[in-house]
Amino acid sequence: MSRTIGIPATLTYYSYFPFWQTFFTRLGYKVIASPLSSKQIVDWGVKETVNDACIPIKLFHGHVVALRDKVDYLFIPRMVSVDGKATFCPKFLGLPDMIRASIAGLPRLIDERIELKNGARGLLKTCYKIGSNLKETPAKILRAYWAACKAHWQYQKLLIQGVLPGEILHQQEIVAVHDRRSAVNLAVLGYPYEVHDPFISVNLLQHLAAMNVKVWTVEMVPTHVLAKFRHCLPKNLFWHYSNRVVWACYYYLRQPIDGIIHVSAFGCGPDAMVDKLIELEAKKHNMPFMTLTIDEHTGEAGAVTRLEAFIDMVMFRRENR
Ligand code: SF4
Repeated sequence: MSRTIGIPATLTYYSYFPFWQTFFTRLGYKVIASPLSSKQIVDWGVKETVNDACIPIKLFHGHVVALRDKVDYLFIPRMVSVDGKATFCPKFLGLPDMIRASIAGLPRLIDERIELKNGARGLLKTCYKIGSNLKETPAKILRAYWAACKAHWQYQKLLIQGVLPGEILHQQEIVAVHDRRSAVNLAVLGYPYEVHDPFISVNLLQHLAAMNVKVWTVEMVPTHVLAKFRHCLPKNLFWHYSNRVVWACYYYLRQPIDGIIHVSAFGCGPDAMVDKLIELEAKKHNMPFMTLTIDEHTGEAGAVTRLEAFIDMVMFRRENR
C-alpha cells in the first residue's frame, strides 16, 4: 500500500520542494503537494488562523486544510536556520505548533527541527532522524539523501540560470521575463513564497511579462554572491529570507537595472525594516523604487494600475536620461 506525505505548496516549498520530494519519494512514499494557491485556499486559511497573522501564514493554514484528508503524513518542519547564523522569521519556528493548535483532524505531522549548524553534515543528521522515525534503514536514508541533494543542486542551477520557480514547480509559462531585449529591466525583490506564488502576488510576474519587462529576482543570484554583500550593513538582520532580499538589493543596485519593486506582505514584522532599508538604498542610488504590499484583499486591477504607472515613469526617465 502506498504511503503518502503532503507538502503545503507555500513558504519553504519554493526553496526546498525538489529536495524533500526526492527524499521522501526515494524512501518509498508518494509525495503530494497542495494545489496552487486560490481564493478557496485563502478562505480556508483565514478561517483557521489567528487574526493578526500575515497573509503567507494564513495561506499556509489553507494549504494544510487542502491536504489534511488526502495524506497519511504532513511535512511541516520547524525551520530554524539553514546556515547556523540567521534564523527564519519566528512564525516559521512556531509553525508546527500553530498548525496543531488551529486545525483539527490532522494526519501525523513530520515536524523535525531544521537547524543546520554543520552544513551538509547537519542536514544528513536531520534526514537520518526523519528517516529513522519512519522506520527506514540507514542505507536507504543515505541513498535518498544523496538523490535529494542532487535534485536540489539541479533546481538551484536552473534558478541561477534565470528559470523561475513557478516554471519548474508549476510548469507555468512566463516568457517575456526572460527576454533580455525587453524594454525595461526590473529587480523584483521579496520572499519566494510571495513573489512566485501567482495568487498571492496578484499575478505580478505574468503582468510584468505582458508589459515587456525583464524581471530579475533574488533566486537568480547565487548564494555565495549574495553573501559578499553581508558587510554592506553594519549588522545583518536576524532573518534568513530578509537578509537574502536586502543583499539582493545591494547586488542589483550595482547592475544595469531600471528600477526595483519590493513585494511585501501586510503585517510582516521583518518587512517593516527590509522595506525601509531598500527604499533608502534605492534613494541613495537614485533608483526608481516601489513597494507592492499584498494581503488577502489586494485587488489585481489596482496592482496593475500601479505597475503601469511605475513602468511609465521608469521609461520616461530612461528616454530623458
Ligand atoms: S517573514 Fe513576514 S511574511 Fe514571512 S512569515 Fe514572517 S511575518 Fe510572514
